[in-house]
This record gives sequence, structure tokens and C-alpha cells, in this order.
Amino acid sequence: MLKEFSVSSRKKIELIDITAKVERIVKESGLKEGVVVVFIPHATAGLVLNEHESGLINDFEKWFEKSFRGDWEHDRIDDNASAHLASGLIGSSVHLILSEGRILRGVWQNLFLVELDGPRKERKVLVKLIRS
Ligand code: ZN
Repeated sequence: MLKEFSVSSRKKIELIDITAKVERIVKESGLKEGVVVVFIPHATAGLVLNEHESGLINDFEKWFEKSFRGDWEHDRIDDNASAHLASGLIGSSVHLILSEGRILRGVWQNLFLVELDGPRKERKVLVKLIRS
């Protein structure tokens, strides 16, 4: 089963918590055992599993902003090389284990879409549910 939703971003770099949206899709599917693959079809965004704490969210945003500054060739045509580089490192998908109708994740593991080249009206999130 393939589902899709989208989120919008308000800042250049922004962590957006999508845990509730993904868990709602899983709940509504009725699937109890399997694998949930979350994928974003974007080259300037990423997915991260981590703690939803406002200070840490700010830290991630600062860290991504600082760590990928540079004199990049792609900036000559598109001025967003740092967003591509961060996206490449962070990754575009996560696999989650579904057991007894619940995603097995740590207490401090919420799922965030990381906007790296915002603001954007629409960032798509694909959710594939695989029975196993
Ligand atoms: Zn680009």
C-alpha cells in the first residue's frame, strides 16, 4: 500500500515533525505487522529520526546551516549546493518496523522532514506499507 502526504516549510532550514502524520497513515491502514518505508522525492531535503526538543531542533538547524557552507560549483547555476550536499548526507528514506500495529521507535525518536532549501509550498512524503 502506498500513501502520500505533503508538508510546507516556512524557513530556509527547518525540521518539521511528521511522526503523527506517518502514524495516522499506519493506523488507518489497519496493518499490524510489516515494514514502513518513508521516502521523500526531493534532492534538497532529508529525513532524520531524533528527539523533539525545541533546543535540539534549533541546534540541528544551526548545525546543518553551518556545516555545509562553502564555495560550491553548483551555486553558479542554482545557488543551493549546500542544501544538496546536506540532503545527500542525511538521506531521503527511513525504514521503520511495524509490530502489533505500532511503529517500533525509541521514546526520543520522532521523525522529521528536514527542509534545507525552503521555504517551499509542498514537500512530498511517500509512505510504503509492506506486510510481513
Ligand atoms: Zn540545485
